[in-house]
Amino acid sequence: MIYPIVKYGDPVLEKVAAPVTAFDEGLKKLIEDMFESMYAAHGVGLAAPQIGISKRIAVIDVTFKEDPNAKLVLINPEIIHTEGKQTQNEGCLSLPEFREPVSRARRATVRAQDVTGKFFEATGEELLARAFQHEIDHLNGRLYIAHISGLKRDLIKRKVRKLVKAGEW
Ligand SMILES: [Zn+2]
Repeated sequence: MIYPIVKYGDPVLEKVAAPVTAFDEGLKKLIEDMFESMYAAHGVGLAAPQIGISKRIAVIDVTFKEDPNAKLVLINPEIIHTEGKQTQNEGCLSLPEFREPVSRARRATVRAQDVTGKFFEATGEELLARAFQHEIDHLNGRLYIAHISGLKRDLIKRKVRKLVKAGEW
């Protein structure tokens, strides 16, 4: 099932998501649906709040279907180590059409649970490290615009308000 992507302005995006406690069939189905919804929206990462579900789940595929082994499911993830710095343009499915340079750690290690509840660690660099940081921010109710200047953020907010008024958001 493809869920519509929740856009900036919806309070679910600014809420701290709840930990997952049930590793059941419902969770498996939700994760399948999250990948399906992410690909349909042409994204490389999606957090559950972005489909209106306030739970600590994120899916990532920085290869966008090219490498099936690149599909990553992060449940109750935490960043346990970061290194270095990178600044690249960043976008978000919940803020379509906008992109801004955002500084992030260049390398990041996460500790998370898989779909069966088993803990694992994964380390990413460059785009994958950025995806870890971006998606885990979502689970803490933060969007990437929290990392840009107030001036730029206000500009985006103003543009979004215009689009909402025009019925285009
Ligand atoms: Zn996002």
